[in-house]
Amino acid sequence: MTAYDYDLFVIGGGSGGVRSARVAAALGKKVAIAEEYRYGGTCVIRGCVPKKLFVYASQYHEHFEDAAGFGWTVGESTFDWKKLIAAKDAEITRLEGLYKKGLSSANAEIFETRAELVDAHTVRLVSSGKTVTAKTIVIATGGEPNHHGALPGHDLCITSNEAFDLEALPRKIVIVGGGYIAVEFANVFHGLGVETTLVYRGAEILSRFDHDLRRGLHEAMAAKGIRILCHDMLKSVAKGEDGLKVETLNNGMLDADVVMLAIGRVPNSHGLGLEAAGVRTNEHGAIIVDDYSRTSVDNIYALGDVTDRVQLTPVAIHEAMCFIETEYKNNPTKPDHETIATAVFSQPEIGTVGLSEEEAGKRYSEVEVYRAQFRPMKATLSGRTEKMIMKLLVDAASRKVIGAHILGHDAGEMAQLLGITLKAGSTKDDFDRTMAVHPTAAEELVTMYAPSYRLRNGVRV
Ligand SMILES: Cc1cc2nc3c(=O)[nH]c(=O)nc-3n(C[C@H](O)[C@H](O)[C@H](O)COP(=O)(O)OP(=O)(O)OC[C@H]3O[C@@H](n4cnc5c(N)ncnc54)[C@H](O)[C@@H]3O)c2cc1C
Repeated sequence: MTAYDYDLFVIGGGSGGVRSARVAAALGKKVAIAEEYRYGGTCVIRGCVPKKLFVYASQYHEHFEDAAGFGWTVGESTFDWKKLIAAKDAEITRLEGLYKKGLSSANAEIFETRAELVDAHTVRLVSSGKTVTAKTIVIATGGEPNHHGALPGHDLCITSNEAFDLEALPRKIVIVGGGYIAVEFANVFHGLGVETTLVYRGAEILSRFDHDLRRGLHEAMAAKGIRILCHDMLKSVAKGEDGLKVETLNNGMLDADVVMLAIGRVPNSHGLGLEAAGVRTNEHGAIIVDDYSRTSVDNIYALGDVTDRVQLTPVAIHEAMCFIETEYKNNPTKPDHETIATAVFSQPEIGTVGLSEEEAGKRYSEVEVYRAQFRPMKATLSGRTEKMIMKLLVDAASRKVIGAHILGHDAGEMAQLLGITLKAGSTKDDFDRTMAVHPTAAEELVTMYAPSYRLRNGVRV
């Protein structure tokens, strides 16, 4: 007889939690998992998946316009927000079912309740008040949107959580923030016909991305008609006669039906009983972990967004797989957070992997910058003026490609493949001897033979 009810108890049924529970259970461990909202977590229910479905929906307007250049006459088109929401809901419910099925097929016990720690080995199931014990505990409770409690009228605003279930499509929206969630939603709402204003306190949107992509995307969004107000922030939001009155610091009053705050996410660690169990957090509430995702308590691990390392679904899943190796396969494995390929599903899209030009200039004494800006083939007949940008950064000493950045259609798909190349340590010479695939936009990546310019000690020469 074991001393505990379970070998493993997982708190949180999102990307990281479900993976930990399912794989541990499939290895024959006695596993339970608790989820307080819906299985699948942020990614499936109110993050990556519904977001991407919205992105697809919002692109049709331009597709219909572009069709004319290729000889098509498209009849009158209308958009039905409620139909989109219903279709999205059906899809995420399907995925939620698959997540639960995966868990039960592996023999993990599923609890639909909030769970909190009582001590290092005891978990309280809030809905029943029952306590259970486990040898090992994984905390994978994710994060939640920052609600900006200091903003007068913040309770009148929504976050990405509510944006997925709005009763009706607004006529005018103000989105606050300059990160990828703010930028993606600005493009989604604009594409669906909403008058969209983005307010961001920084100098340029998407602060940690390469400056060429940031500028290029800003220009493309502005050209479409999205109003972007940088160096600005909200002073207050109040109810007006017809919608909301938004007071900004530098651009006066704005009208909106909906104000969406997308100013970052905070770790979901409040009220979890962490203190009682001895689990330490940092000043932002993120659970502190070592290189193996182990918390300050030996038998408790934390992974995914609640640890505030890199807030992406594949990272949470990778951390879960490393936990399995470390805890159950006698193979201590540190999550690898280097060279993570990622995308911004803006319109045009961003795909990126490795260092930005600014970072490369700081880390390497001489950097070759290969840069191409061109009109993609489809735009020749559609008449769209949007330009693609492709950029490779190469360490001159080793010839290794240390950064690859794309702005334009399918950039996210390309970033996935470039991610393999950069992870494998490919050099610029490897790119040069790779045959182009013609005619594609991606062929530009292997046909930029001479550097556009260089950086010496961070300075452009
Ligand atoms: C709008 C949006 C778009 C995004 N787009 C992308 C994208 O395109 N690509 C990408 O890689 N990432 C994207 N992300 C980020 C991604 O969703 C997260 O990084 C990922 O979901 C983190 O996984 P996790 O397991 O750490 O937490 P989550 O998936 O957030 O899961 C945590 C779960 O724990 C539950 N929970 C919390 N507390 C308790 C408790 N005490 N008891 C029981 N259950 C609890 C929550 O209800 C939640 O279901 C997006 C996020 C948002 C908000």
